[in-house]
Amino acid sequence: MTEKSIQSPTSHLQPSITACTTLVGVIGWPVEHSLSPAMHNAAFVALGLDWAYVPLPVYPDHLGEAVRGLRALGFAGANVTVPHKQAVLAHLDDISQAAQVIGAVNTIAVRDGLLYGDNTDATGFLASLHDVGFDPAGTYCAVLGAGGAARAVAHALAEAGARQVRIYNRTLARARDLCREMAKFHGDVRFESGSPDDLAAIGDDTDLLVNTTSVGMWPDTEVSPWPRDLPIPGQLTVCDLVYNPPETLFLSQARVVGAETVGGLGMLVHQGAVAFELWTGRPAPLAIMRAACLEALQGQDAPYRPRRQV
Ligand code: NAP
Repeated sequence: MTEKSIQSPTSHLQPSITACTTLVGVIGWPVEHSLSPAMHNAAFVALGLDWAYVPLPVYPDHLGEAVRGLRALGFAGANVTVPHKQAVLAHLDDISQAAQVIGAVNTIAVRDGLLYGDNTDATGFLASLHDVGFDPAGTYCAVLGAGGAARAVAHALAEAGARQVRIYNRTLARARDLCREMAKFHGDVRFESGSPDDLAAIGDDTDLLVNTTSVGMWPDTEVSPWPRDLPIPGQLTVCDLVYNPPETLFLSQARVVGAETVGGLGMLVHQGAVAFELWTGRPAPLAIMRAACLEALQGQDAPYRPRRQV
């Protein structure tokens, strides 16, 4: 079956599991709202692979046992999500340079019995920017938030040659810490910190604005990390990492001023695609993975409805 021959809906793309099936999964707490099982299982079936992806709810106290268990149970790997992305580092044999700089692992591959940790969020984020033709090389970027996702975004932008990355966070000390840490790894990039009160200073000199906070995420879809009474500069490319809903209030604020917008679903699919390729060695069927995510979102108790106006 080819990617082109698959039409939405994708919910029929469910693997059948036997003793020979290669398993991967997602370790988190909780994991029931993860879109990754639907996304990866659709991809496995579409490519005719005898693989299956299972949700693995793991309570924090049991993280080490669960990660070691991947090896014992013959898993090919796993994704790692909240709240384990940082803590999992202590349980791995080796990690990628990206995971080291970001300080978090979201993908484990089991290779020759060893547990290798990587972080595919940075690559996934850059790929979502490339989808709209945005190249961070030489650009001035503003990042809202200083949590785990902001670390991946700041590293990605620096790796891609951004000239300046300004990080604005509600807790200013966290933004300062992130700037300090990133500057250690990326000496040629100017990192600056600010608070949300400084957002009005974002003007014509900025190329990219990225929301990495969880503000606007379901069920709080009527709030935005950007002040309602402050127009977003229209020349910006504006990206929201929140993918539920796919069209956030923040993206609507950007759209009305004519800014180019990038939703979080692109990063979700691309980070999943990089993990898929790490595990299987096969090119990921991006269109199917995206369709499966959208369909899974619609099926959740937080159904996605297109936003009409700001
Ligand atoms: P996190 O580590 O908990 O960080 C949360 C960030 O949001 C912090 O900077 C926090 O500020 C800020 N924040 C939270 N509530 C806020 C509020 N009411 N007002 C202002 N700032 C607020 O979370 P994360 O792992 O970075 O994830 C952040 C978002 O990115 C989530 O929505 C997640 O789903 C999304 N994400 C998407 C992808 C993707 O593939 N699209 C990948 C990763 C993450 P303080 O420091 O002041 O608390």
